[in-house]
Amino acid sequence: MAPSPWLFNLTRTLLKSHRTPTSPTLTALPRLFSSTSPPLRLSPPEAGLGPTGAGEKPRVVVLGSGWAGCRLMKGIDTSVYDVVCVSPRNLMVFTPLLASTCVGTLEFRSVAEPIARIQPSISRDPGSYFFLARCKAVDTDDHTETSSPEPNLQSVEFANSEASPMIPFQILDILRDRLEDGNPPLQAKETTLPPSQFSLKNAQQAAFNPSSTPCPNEEKTKSRVGKAWLHCETVTDGGNPSNLEPWNFKVSYDKLVIASGAEASTFGTQGVKKHAIFLREVAHAQEIRRKLLLNLMLSDVPGISDAEKSRLLHCVVVGGGPTGVEFSGELSDFIIRDVHQRYSHVKDFIHVTLIEANEILSSFDVRLRQYATNHLTKSGVWLVRGIVKDVQPEKIILNDGTEVPFGLLVWSTGVGPSPFISSLQFPKSPGGRIGVDEWLRVPAAQDVFSIGDCSGFLESTGKPTLRALAQVAERQGKYLAGLLNRIGKAGGGHANSSKDMELGDPFVYKHLGSMATVGRYKALVDLRQSKEAKGLSLAGFVSWFIWRSAYLTRVVSWRNRFYVAINWATTFVFGRDLSRI
Ligand SMILES: Cc1cc2nc3c(=O)[nH]c(=O)nc-3n(C[C@H](O)[C@H](O)[C@H](O)COP(=O)(O)OP(=O)(O)OC[C@H]3O[C@@H](n4cnc5c(N)ncnc54)[C@H](O)[C@@H]3O)c2cc1C
Repeated sequence: MAPSPWLFNLTRTLLKSHRTPTSPTLTALPRLFSSTSPPLRLSPPEAGLGPTGAGEKPRVVVLGSGWAGCRLMKGIDTSVYDVVCVSPRNLMVFTPLLASTCVGTLEFRSVAEPIARIQPSISRDPGSYFFLARCKAVDTDDHTETSSPEPNLQSVEFANSEASPMIPFQILDILRDRLEDGNPPLQAKETTLPPSQFSLKNAQQAAFNPSSTPCPNEEKTKSRVGKAWLHCETVTDGGNPSNLEPWNFKVSYDKLVIASGAEASTFGTQGVKKHAIFLREVAHAQEIRRKLLLNLMLSDVPGISDAEKSRLLHCVVVGGGPTGVEFSGELSDFIIRDVHQRYSHVKDFIHVTLIEANEILSSFDVRLRQYATNHLTKSGVWLVRGIVKDVQPEKIILNDGTEVPFGLLVWSTGVGPSPFISSLQFPKSPGGRIGVDEWLRVPAAQDVFSIGDCSGFLESTGKPTLRALAQVAERQGKYLAGLLNRIGKAGGGHANSSKDMELGDPFVYKHLGSMATVGRYKALVDLRQSKEAKGLSLAGFVSWFIWRSAYLTRVVSWRNRFYVAINWATTFVFGRDLSRI
């Protein structure tokens, strides 16, 4: 198919100026073609944020915007480092209050903290960025330092063509050749890279501001040619495929912090991913709320049999850990307080069942566990001991053959390593997490650290793997920010420059205790370091008050603290919001 005349004109105009190195318009070209002219469409070039030069601030790249990554970014001294965060979400979820959003006790925004509020430099400083993307691979070949007459040498590649580094000039050469022949361009040529500064930011600026020019790095005569890269892919929500194809790019780092968390475990149970909802992200809570309200409304419609009403309104929670128990408690509270009043036609059909293979809340002592069991039972939650063998669209099958029909199934049976973490070729700690030493370094790779749910102490440290908890992740983030700041201030911020540095005290974790609500103004608080240790442990209304106060003070920003307090007050006075938005 012949290219359209306007495309010829555009290309000619561009070709006239294409010998000007890295004209910003040129960097935007592949995008223009890809979005407007399907036959001439190129794979987007794999742009990159290249290695920092000796005169630049070193760059800390953080993978993940959870408890660990966000606490780290908050503590990083941005006069020492540039910060780049790569994460599929631009917010941090305040997970301890997530269950409350599923039934409308809290609104979703109240538990979502934008990253730019946690670390403002990410949207302000010229070398700091947030990339809405998922890291797919980490290439940790040692950083090498080289003298180069060229400033800040960087490469731009075609997607999926590791062997064919490609820059906009060559894209244009090929385009010109092909267009003059009347053919669409097909292949990238392998070329040497010219002295240029091409970065993702320049590409973005160029795309929005064709008259801008990238600022040269005059001062640098020495640049680090990093062979250590992160390979990332943008997150596009799977929207219109012609406009929102994922875009690959690479990011080079001086210090890399892997804080990409864990994933819900299914223990290989069939059908879980298809028919159950996890409770880990705001999107999950939104899905649960919509489904719950949909089922409530459907069950009120004429023509629904009683058996179908019972199924639709049977909410099954699998997993009796703190998350499963807190969600069950919130649900029972919602049913007693709101459904009984505002959906009174169907109030006798709605039930909550909590299925657990062992004891519920096994990390709490027997007295608190007993309290929780009694309270949940009194609140109408059916506690079932069993193992789920199979999940089908409308029912689950237990190991003893019992069939449990459900309208809403929430799966919360703990976490395990994500496929991304499993794919990384680092030595692992027990449980398959990335193995770290006492300073949270990944000993197998220079300048790489790992914190939060995705990391664990290597067996050689003699330390146990810490539980997947926000308080562990948060404290690791805080510790590592301090460590990196010290390293940076001592001149070790750049790649390969902190090898022989004295790192100071290792990370030590001291457990501050556990808390869980069980619904209806009751909670458990255990402020002991272990079940056997001495200290405060109580259950009931006072615990619930402590739980609420503690989490209100832990909410990251004043804005969200205010939202949470207002949501609680509104729910107390007016009940929960039942609109299905
Ligand atoms: C509902 C719920 C309630 C909880 N309640 C409590 C509680 O009361 N107390 C407590 O101590 N703990 C609680 N936890 C556990 C706590 O939330 C986790 O331990 C904590 O979130 C771990 O922090 P993290 O930063 O390691 O991981 P996460 O907070 O899970 O963050 C991981 C981040 O990495 C991103 N990511 C994933 N893959 C990639 C990739 N390939 N590239 C880049 N980024 C990636 C994710 O999008 C996310 O931003 C709760 C958890 C849940 C789900």
